Amino acid sequence: MRPAAPDSPLISMVVPFLNEEAVLPRLFETLDATLPGLGSYRWELVLVDDGSTDRSVDVIRGASAGFPGDVRVVRLSRNFGHQAALMAGLGQARGEALICLDADLQDPPSLFAKFLNHYAEGHDVVYAVRQTREGSTWKRAAYWVFYRLFKSVSHIRIPLDAGDFGLVSRRVATLVTAMPERDVLVRGLRSWVGFRQIGVPYDRPERAAGETKYSLSKLLRLAASAFFGYSALPLRLATGIGLVSAMLAALYAVYAIIAKLSGHAAPAGWTSLVIVVLFLGGVQLISVGLLGEYIGRIHQQTQARPLFVVAETLEFPASETK
Ligand code: UDP
Ligand code: MG
Repeated sequence: MRPAAPDSPLISMVVPFLNEEAVLPRLFETLDATLPGLGSYRWELVLVDDGSTDRSVDVIRGASAGFPGDVRVVRLSRNFGHQAALMAGLGQARGEALICLDADLQDPPSLFAKFLNHYAEGHDVVYAVRQTREGSTWKRAAYWVFYRLFKSVSHIRIPLDAGDFGLVSRRVATLVTAMPERDVLVRGLRSWVGFRQIGVPYDRPERAAGETKYSLSKLLRLAASAFFGYSALPLRLATGIGLVSAMLAALYAVYAIIAKLSGHAAPAGWTSLVIVVLFLGGVQLISVGLLGEYIGRIHQQTQARPLFVVAETLEFPASETK
């Protein structure tokens, strides 16, 4: 392959990973095979090590020799989570366009050609939309419900079934990484920024090797970041339920007074009393919990701790022989 001219556009790929020694060789094989066919681009691979404890970095060291571009490993000082790692990578990448993808080949590099075409047409954001998704039925159902529920409550339009896999222009990456948010959802910030955005449909395959690194608790945290970061509806919901309950109580009071004045004996009413007390107690606790979610985020924001800490950066530059 002829090396790309020094003035051809530099495209960065940002790949956060956690203990992916099983799949990283496959990632390199696929990229080595795909990138040269995509046209006259220079490539940079920014791998963000989100606190791996396996041999991932050794694997990268070995595999980077055949890669048609520069390879950089940004090692975080511990596991900060996928979203924080993604932000670290977006901040370090130097390309004029940046492609975010997972290490496990669930985000197939065969889509890069479409991403780059849309970028060349003037789109600032190209995101991949999952038409089908592999994996367990309950997980797929949970994703389906989540994205639709989220769409109905969020105050920005985040595309349905789109993850972080996609391309962003340099200016979008700069804007996203400059945001002072502590509770980060990259796909949300990316939508919020605006400019010309477009979706590319694809079928999401199973991970090529290894186990998922997204535990249930990490997934739930991601869902909470989306809900509470992009919607004030839960707060309004509490107000709404409170108003309806108060109105019902007022109506009941009027009825009780009229019943009393017209000489009816008050009903025994123990059951209804218990139901009302339990219901309102529950509503109050839920409301306090919802408030807590927002206050917790305010607390986190005022602490203003950095999203991640970089321990070291390893460079594996493209050699002349590549
Ligand atoms: N990942 C990460 N830090 C974490 C969890 C995951 O960097 O704390 C990486 C992981 O190595 C992979 C990507 O995030 O490259 C997506 O994770 P995974 O494939 O395990 O999630 P799933 O596709 O199962 O939802
Ligand atoms: Mg995956």
